Amino acid sequence: MPAKHDINKVGVESSDFPILCETCLGPNPYVRMTKQEFGNECKICNRPFTVFRWNPGAGARYKKTEICNTCAKIKGVCQTCLLDLEYGLPVQVRDAALGRKQDAPTSDINKQFYIQNLEAQMANSADGQVFDSDAANRAGREMLKNMARTDPHYKRNRPHICSFFVKGECKRGGECPFRHELPKENELSKQNLVDRYYGKNDPVAKKILREQAESKGMKAPEDKTVTTLLFLGLPVTTEAEIRASLAGACPFVKPTEVRSLTIVEASHCAFVNFVNRPLAERVAEALSAQNGIEVSGKRAKVVWGRSRPQKGKGPSAAGSASASGSGSVTAV
Ligand SMILES: [Zn+2]
Ligand SMILES: [Zn+2]
Ligand SMILES: [Zn+2]
Repeated sequence: MPAKHDINKVGVESSDFPILCETCLGPNPYVRMTKQEFGNECKICNRPFTVFRWNPGAGARYKKTEICNTCAKIKGVCQTCLLDLEYGLPVQVRDAALGRKQDAPTSDINKQFYIQNLEAQMANSADGQVFDSDAANRAGREMLKNMARTDPHYKRNRPHICSFFVKGECKRGGECPFRHELPKENELSKQNLVDRYYGKNDPVAKKILREQAESKGMKAPEDKTVTTLLFLGLPVTTEAEIRASLAGACPFVKPTEVRSLTIVEASHCAFVNFVNRPLAERVAEALSAQNGIEVSGKRAKVVWGRSRPQKGKGPSAAGSASASGSGSVTAV
């Protein structure tokens, strides 16, 4: 039975077994681990925690837990690689697909407060889950299942690349425990653990989200002035309803960041214009991971608007509803 954490005893964290994904654990279920109580500070909450260290298999590098048991449970991630345990995906991808809010504390004190708060919520909820699963949308879960990386990727456990070899200076030759190869442009290596944990600025997640959006015909237009998305196949609805749907699906969008919202009832579509391009891209990626957006009980398709020159006004975002087969539509 899982022990409830006593939040009055913060700063003390001891556990018998780490929370690990299959990849980090390695193929041998009987792997030997060394355990060091209060061996290090958790990289997220800074509290001392039990550090486990093990070798995940022949030819692999030693791995150790980087964050505490509690922080791992709160986000449902592996204590070593910080990827989601259920889908093997970065937190940022999972949360975009499920429309989960990503709030992260900023200062050290806030950090402790934030984790303790979630810890208390977790202890009080029946199933130990912090997040309301009703709020998570079904389409997002479906999409995550398709994107899931469930087979273990043992390649991730290889030794790191030898930095001396890269500079042409390694004299250890075959004895060298590190990999003698030149690094490829690797986005993973630039990752910051805290960002990965909170699902912010995660280059791997960005790549995955971009690729899945592109695979669904949601490639962001070359023309960077396009900041409009079209919602197609809408039922009869109102601007307020669309805004509420958007707030639910993409909680990172502030109401003021929707520059304009134009419903074209005859074509059952709406033009949603955002204040900047990075935001529009983020919304496009999240909504494509959610397979569209549910508005007034119906799931609408989301596509990018098109740039089209307008007389005297310079390029402005407009869209074509030809994708829905109802002829052309012009933004007002
Ligand atoms: Zn922690
Ligand atoms: Zn892992
Ligand atoms: Zn070397």
